[in-house]
Amino acid sequence: MNIIVLFGPPGSGKGTQAKILSEKFHLEHISTGDLFRYNIKNNTKLGQEAQSYINKGNLVPDELTTEMLIDELRRNSSQKGFILDGYPRTKSQAETLDKLLNTIFRTQVDVTLALYVKDEILVKRILKRSEASERLDDADESIIRNRINEYYEKTAVVSNYYKQQHKLVELDGEGNIEEITAALSKEIEKFI
Ligand code: AMP
Repeated sequence: MNIIVLFGPPGSGKGTQAKILSEKFHLEHISTGDLFRYNIKNNTKLGQEAQSYINKGNLVPDELTTEMLIDELRRNSSQKGFILDGYPRTKSQAETLDKLLNTIFRTQVDVTLALYVKDEILVKRILKRSEASERLDDADESIIRNRINEYYEKTAVVSNYYKQQHKLVELDGEGNIEEITAALSKEIEKFI
């Protein structure tokens, strides 16, 4: 079983790349952001609890996020592997993920692929994306900047966690989609 983590700030292209790569390598794409949006759309209890955090551009508390991830991992336990997009986003989530993968699958993260993009490009990309989506957190520049801020305050440290384990590969996320897919694929192929 392969576990690939796609890592980076909001707007770095994780979602786009995870979708392409999961099809290419026949891995299950798990996006915690998509799972939250699904729950919000269906007005579940989890969706109601998560909504106010998401709409303000804040991270949802770890307990809620992790519970949702556990359900999703168990539901897909027959899979060849996963591409995780948007989880872990805190050091505590990274530690929890290690424990979960060990307990549920007796496996561990193969590699964390981090995409780096300058803040001003992130903001532009997300505002552009908002033209074609209904995401409230994409439409307002101050909320976007808060999400980027949350990334630097709480999420960026996760890269050190994987660096210490020699599992971090850092890539330039500013090229075109095909170039970045090629660079990510090259890294994934080392583990498949
Ligand atoms: P995304 O689609 O990955 O940009 O996620 C959208 C929003 O969902 C984020 O801004 C957070 O509010 C929330 N979210 C997604 N994944 C997580 C996570 N792992 N931990 C906490 N909040 C999350």
